[in-house]
Amino acid sequence: MTLTTRFAPSPTGYLHVGGARTALYSWLYAQKNGGNFILRIEDTDLERSTQASVDAIMDGMNWLNLEWTHGPYFQTERFDRYKEVIEQLLASGNAYRCYSTSEEVEVMREEAKAKGEIEKYNGLWRDRTDYPEDKPYVIRFKNPLDGDVVINDIVKGDITISNLQLDDLIIARSDGTPTYNLTVVVDDLDMEISHVVRGDDHISNTPKQINILKALGATIPAYAHIPMILGDDGKRLSKRHGAVSVMQYRDDGYLPEALLNYLVRLGWSHGDQEIFSREEMIELFDLTGCNRAPSAFNTDKLVWVNQHYMKTLEPSYVATQLAWHMADQGINVENGPALEEIVKVQADRVKTLKEMAQISRYFYEDFTELDASAVKKHLRPVVKEPLQVVKEKLAALTDWSPALIHAAINDTATELEVGMGKVGMPLRVAATGGGNSPSLDITLALLDQKKVLARIDQALVVVEARIANS
Ligand code: GLU
Repeated sequence: MTLTTRFAPSPTGYLHVGGARTALYSWLYAQKNGGNFILRIEDTDLERSTQASVDAIMDGMNWLNLEWTHGPYFQTERFDRYKEVIEQLLASGNAYRCYSTSEEVEVMREEAKAKGEIEKYNGLWRDRTDYPEDKPYVIRFKNPLDGDVVINDIVKGDITISNLQLDDLIIARSDGTPTYNLTVVVDDLDMEISHVVRGDDHISNTPKQINILKALGATIPAYAHIPMILGDDGKRLSKRHGAVSVMQYRDDGYLPEALLNYLVRLGWSHGDQEIFSREEMIELFDLTGCNRAPSAFNTDKLVWVNQHYMKTLEPSYVATQLAWHMADQGINVENGPALEEIVKVQADRVKTLKEMAQISRYFYEDFTELDASAVKKHLRPVVKEPLQVVKEKLAALTDWSPALIHAAINDTATELEVGMGKVGMPLRVAATGGGNSPSLDITLALLDQKKVLARIDQALVVVEARIANS
């Protein structure tokens, strides 16, 4: 049997980092073993499921490049099959019609509670056949009355649950629709899932699912329940902690490689290695290396990983991701340096691609406003002559290269016997509008020569105005 894992999101919102990590672990495990990875959309909750969420989940998976080999399958397209299995369970005596009303069941629970027993359905209809006519009923699974269910969890170890703890679970509602645990079981069975990798918030469902699988004569898959992700306050990660949607991380300027690498380490380790290429992740990942305890999300570390990838991935690739942010910020990059060049000079100056786009605007757009504090500090009356001289030297260059630009700036300082502070900084403010940029020769070289000269003129107007006012 081929090793098969699945990711089974309910489409009731975007893909959040917890779901993405579960998907990643399932995907990695399948990749590592040459197995199948199924995407299954658990959309039976018609009120809460939306097409927008389905799209958002798939967008997130695509952005992270977590390709599924089969699917997407939709549970809403499989109702006939669920009905068939429910009939099968009825026929084999593993399920029964229950005519107790919800009020009656509530009373049973209260009674059990009063006696200090486990609150559950008392099995009133378990062995009856005297069905009333025209009365609504649900279908319950006949949970075994004795013995234990053992989950051999790959992450958590063996977990034993007594059958006495378990209720006769409703598998079909009075309108005939299947319930959650039934659909999961049928799908895991039909899709030949060998390894169920999911969040440990599902662990209480597992013994119920195992019992139904057993009643169907199915092989029980291996389970790996992954602990939750916490926020920095130790509470379960939620919107309160900031971004939780995978696509929000895209919008905030993280590379998919960085988020994946961050997520693989959040809950799994291989020695003290922090950086894993995709290939290395596939090679080294194992469910047995997953932590048993929950891990806390740490944005500083994610930033660190992001910086690593911005600096070390092929600039031409990082440029494709930067292009999205440029467009997002309305910066038209047609007229200006290739984005690859921007990546080369800005990657070690920022935390995110969003920031990289923000600080690279001057390469593509002219500006009339200059940073006020940079003007105050660097465009003083004394820089008029240095700016004029350096402009002449720059204008005379027939080869617009960093080396010649560098020489022009140095020559100006030497000739006028002034420090670089009176040439380089004013020139930087003139060319970029502010006091921060990559090294000046490279920055100017990336800008068009005519553009630089015009921007020096623009700065000289500011200097002149200051002279007039002084
Ligand atoms: N649909 C469930 C969820 O989104 C996952 C169920 C499972 O993995 O078994 O939480």
